[in-house]
Parts: sequence; structure tokens; C-alpha cells
Amino acid sequence: TSAAPGSPEAHARLTVLSGPTAVGKGTIMTEMRGRAPDVWISVSATTRPPRPTEIDGVHYYFLSPETFDELVAGGQMLEWAVVHGKHRYGTLRAPVERELAAGRPVFLEVDLQGARQVRRAMPDARFVFLAPPSWEELVRRLTGRGTESPAERERRLVTARGELAAAGEFDHVVVNDDVARATDEVLSLMGVTQRVD
Ligand code: 5GP
Repeated sequence: TSAAPGSPEAHARLTVLSGPTAVGKGTIMTEMRGRAPDVWISVSATTRPPRPTEIDGVHYYFLSPETFDELVAGGQMLEWAVVHGKHRYGTLRAPVERELAAGRPVFLEVDLQGARQVRRAMPDARFVFLAPPSWEELVRRLTGRGTESPAERERRLVTARGELAAAGEFDHVVVNDDVARATDEVLSLMGVTQRVD
């Protein structure tokens, strides 16, 4: 069913997931794609360079700082933030509004600063915080991933400390102890029916 764009009914179909570095947000999203293909997952824009396995338009829209600036200046970002003190990340407004107006459940993964901006713009959205089972486990996952330099890891862990302290701002906290279980929990909070193979 469609609802007026910008209405509380449309915004209620929006779910915003946030959580510290390496908690497994990406893995949960991959799992969601397979299990709930009707959920529309936003592709963020970023000024960060792609990692070797990342594809432009799939994992992110990889933009130059100049292009990112233009989109911000033109009011085309629903939210955006400098994450981990370095690169900018943002959600393009138009595709999100288009999908919500079409009546689809929409899913965003953004950092804490982004979640706070979306909360101001769309208070009727659902805000979910993905938490690690423990601090030690988070450090282990970040180190095991091996995609960041030691300095970058340190920077991300500082951010993560602050983000964990903000979990109470969210409507729901989901502990990522197991990807399949945590994905189930997120989908059930969204009220989305899963594909049964
Ligand atoms: P990564 O560089 O590891 O892909 O992502 C780093 C951080 O950027 C993650 O914590 C993620 O939540 C955040 N991020 C990804 N996309 C967006 C976005 O569109 N907006 C905001 N505010 N943060 C984002």
C-alpha cells in the first residue's frame, strides 16, 4: 500500500540500523538480501576509496569529494557524516523517498551521527542498534577482518566506545551473537516476512 510521501505511515516503513565498527552490519545486510528480497536496502555514497572486493553502485557509490559536496549543497543527502574522522558517508534522499512512497520496507545502515539526523527528519522510523556480544569480541572481529591498518583500527575503536554508550537512544538493541539469529530478530522487528526455501 502506498502512503503520502513524507507521511508518518511512509516513515514507519523505514528501518535504520547502526552499530560500532566490525559488529557485523555488512554480514547482516548480506543475509537480509537473501532472506527478504522485498526489503529495499539503500546504497550509501562515500568519499572513501573502494576496497579490492567492493563494486561501485553495489556496496557504495564511490564519489569524489567535489561530487559529494555538490550533493550536500543541493540538499540531496537525507543525512551525511564524517565517519572515523576521515571520509564522508551519506544517504541519497531521492531513492529512499521513492521507495517509501511506493510502499516498500526500506533499510538504511548508517553511523550514529547519521541515525541522529534521520531521527530528526523522520521520527516515525524504526531505529535499531546492533551490539557486539562483548567489547573483547568486537576487538577480535575488527582485528580478524584485517582490512584496516593498526592506526585505523585504533581510530575505529575510539569511535566504537562512544557509539556503544549511545545504544540507549535506539528503539531496539539487537546483539549480534549469531548472524542468522540476529537477522531473524531485525526482520521480525521490521515486520517483514522471510522467504522460506
Ligand atoms: P566502512 O568504511 O567500513 O564501509 O564504513 C564505515 C562506517 O560508515 C560504518 O560504521 C557505517 O555505519 C558508516 N556508514 C556507511 N554508510 C553510511 C551512510 O550512508 N551514512 C552514514 N552517516 N554513515 C554511513
